[in-house]
Amino acid sequence: MCKTPLSFAGTYKFHEGRRYGFLGNTAELFVKKRAFDVYECPKCGKVELYSTKKK
Ligand SMILES: [Zn+2]
Repeated sequence: MCKTPLSFAGTYKFHEGRRYGFLGNTAELFVKKRAFDVYECPKCGKVELYSTKKK
């Protein structure tokens, strides 16, 4: 592991797409959005993700 500080690379978003529509309870489960702040080391390529807490 190097000691190069990680630099902010952007925000990565994806959906936890679980299709529970046939159960009739889709409001919260159908698309649960998650977002992570991505930090990467410009030297060795190490990547770390930090979850964002958006209100
Ligand atoms: Zn590194």
